[in-house]
Amino acid sequence: MTNANIPFLDLVTVHREFEGELVEVLKNALKTAGFIGGPMVQGFEEEFARFCEAQLCVGLGSGTDALRFALIAAGVKSGDIVITVPNTFIATTEAISQAGARPDFVDIDPQTYTMDPAKLREYLERRCRWNPKTRQVVHNATGKPVTAVVPVHLYGQMADMDAILDLASQYNLKVIEDACQAQGAEYFSQKDSRWHKAGSMGQAAAFSFYPGKNLGACGEAGAMTTNDEQLAQTCRLLRDHGQSKKYFHDIEGYNGRLDAIQAGFLRVKLRHLGTWNEQRRQAAERYGKLFAGVQGLLTVPHQPSWARSVYHLYVIQVEDRARLQQKLTDAGIGTGIHYPVALHLTKAYEHLGYHVGDFPIAEQSATHILSLPMFPGLTADQQERVVSEVLQSLSATAPSAH
Ligand SMILES: *Cc1c(COP(=O)(O)O)cnc(C)c1O
Repeated sequence: MTNANIPFLDLVTVHREFEGELVEVLKNALKTAGFIGGPMVQGFEEEFARFCEAQLCVGLGSGTDALRFALIAAGVKSGDIVITVPNTFIATTEAISQAGARPDFVDIDPQTYTMDPAKLREYLERRCRWNPKTRQVVHNATGKPVTAVVPVHLYGQMADMDAILDLASQYNLKVIEDACQAQGAEYFSQKDSRWHKAGSMGQAAAFSFYPGKNLGACGEAGAMTTNDEQLAQTCRLLRDHGQSKKYFHDIEGYNGRLDAIQAGFLRVKLRHLGTWNEQRRQAAERYGKLFAGVQGLLTVPHQPSWARSVYHLYVIQVEDRARLQQKLTDAGIGTGIHYPVALHLTKAYEHLGYHVGDFPIAEQSATHILSLPMFPGLTADQQERVVSEVLQSLSATAPSAH
């Protein structure tokens, strides 16, 4: 028992409890042939908007669709520059490119792994100029307008939104939150002294319901949230071939709809999301206690006073990651790396011309981070075993402490 394998993520146990409800969703869809759109999708959109404290939600085929459609709907055009961070899943920058823009990066804060607002300010002040005629910032080196910023709420924790939103309003940038890893995360804004949910702060936000996310479908799914009716309406057109009415195409769009069976599954699972997020927080707290006192050997996640993370991932940093990961694999403990290559150094972006050293903090984290098992239902026993294996491995390599 004590040596049983511990998965990185358990997607089997979690569905057992309400398997009956999921099967009912499927049976209902078969009975009514309601596969696309309809009350299931609308119901989920209303419930998820409420959960995010946003006015509107548009159900989509994936988180990537949500990012792409939100950027296009927010007005990002061919030839624009959109700023994000190098340490995110490639979908963030794929969506920027697919909207016709060029992704550019600013480095992250070393403690939170999210966009460093000071770096964003530096980029806008030093590498761009303000064009008062177009009311746009123009990137000096390329002459392209910078029109949007995509902060990524990585590992379940929101980026420092007050500072980012201030800069965005000063420089007339749209803010599209990549909230794919952050369903239910919160940010404390100094502006109105209250907590705000991920997906309610930017012009729009993108969510993914890929199975492994905090709220996961049983297949592919995503959504965008916004308080802007015009923006939501454009996303509704984009997801459905630009149709305002069947076969009347106002614009050219995409096939990016949320399917009704997935929407039904998501409605069942959304009712548990608050509990699951709370379980993840408790698990993170337990890891924190178990790792207390060995801070010299590893870095644990940092939650600033303005953030309430939903711990999509529990990410530590160590000096010799390869060795630790191998040790844990040998001990039957699943781990992950999110992500091993900073995007500016990924082969797909060779043509953008970045070099090693351009974003040193993102690069340093890419080579040192390790994601430990984290999912609702992870037990205290399992966590004790993970931590004991980590500490054994680290103390075997650490220089003696005197
Ligand atoms: C999962 C994820 C996406 C993409 O979502 P899909 O539903 O897989 O398209 C985008 N950004 C981040 C940060 C993600 O984690």
